[in-house]
Amino acid sequence: MPTLQAALSRAIEQLNASHSNARLEGEVLVCHALKKPRSYLYTWPEKELSDQQNSIIEKLIEQRTQGTPIAYLTGTREFWSRDFHVTPDVLIPRPETELLVELALKFSGNHPRTLIDLGTGSGIIAITLAAERPHDQVAACEISQAALNIARDNAARLRVNNLTLYQSNWFQAIPPQTFDLIISNPPYIATTDPHLKHGDLIAEPRIALSAGGDGLNAFRTIAQQSKDRLKPNGRLLFEHGYDQAGPLSELLTALGYRSIDAYHDLSGHLRVTSAQL
Ligand code: GLN
Repeated sequence: MPTLQAALSRAIEQLNASHSNARLEGEVLVCHALKKPRSYLYTWPEKELSDQQNSIIEKLIEQRTQGTPIAYLTGTREFWSRDFHVTPDVLIPRPETELLVELALKFSGNHPRTLIDLGTGSGIIAITLAAERPHDQVAACEISQAALNIARDNAARLRVNNLTLYQSNWFQAIPPQTFDLIISNPPYIATTDPHLKHGDLIAEPRIALSAGGDGLNAFRTIAQQSKDRLKPNGRLLFEHGYDQAGPLSELLTALGYRSIDAYHDLSGHLRVTSAQL
C-alpha cells in the first residue's frame, strides 16, 4: 500500500504529461478522493492509503488525463464564495460570470425587485442574486430538465427561498409577468469556433455553449422577447463573448434598445452588456 505522499507524487507525475498545473490538480483530486482538506496532505504524508482509496485516486487521475474537467470529477465549483454542485449536465461556472452578478447587484438599488435569469444551468446567477437580495423576487428558467434538477438541488442546499424555477425555452413557459432585471449568460459560441474542440468545452453540454450559427441567436431571441417583459426603466443584462460587444450592440439598437453599455472583465475583455428600452 502506498503512502499518501507516494500516491500524490504519482498522481502529479501522471498529470504532468498533459496539464500545466499538475500539482494543484493532483492535490485537489487526491483530497477529493480522501474527503480531506488540503492541509491533510502535508500533515500526514506518511499515512498509508487503503487499496480502495488508492484505486479511487487512480481512477480520478485517469479520467482527468482523458480530459474530464476537474469540476465534473469533484462535482463542485465555487462561485461568489459559495459551493455549487455541478455535473456534466451543466456548464461549469466561470469567473467572468461574477462580473454579471456584480453589475446586477449594482443596478438593483434599495427597493425589492423582480428579476429573472434565463438559462440558469447550475443556478449560479439566480441563486447568488436570491441569496444576496433576500427581498427580491427571483425567477429562473432552464430548458434542460437535467440541468434544472441541479439548479433545484443547489437552491435547496444554499437555502434560498425567494427563487422560482421554471422549465422553459426562454420566456415561453414563464407566466405573463414583467421584470426589473432580465439577466442571462446564454450559449454564445459560434458553431465554427475552434474553442469548442478544446479543454473543458469538449465535455460541457453543447446546448449550454452554442445556440448555433454566428453565436448571436440566443441574444436575438431573448432581446426580442424581453421587449414585452421589461418593466419601465427595467434593464437587460447579458454576458457575451470577448468579441461580441459590437455586434450585440447593433442587434439591440435595431430592436429599439437604448443606453447600451459594455463592461470589461478582469482580463480586459468587454464581457457584459447592459441595455434599456
Ligand atoms: N447561467 C449559467 C452560468 O452562467 C449557465 C449558463 C449556460 O449554460 N450558458 O453558468
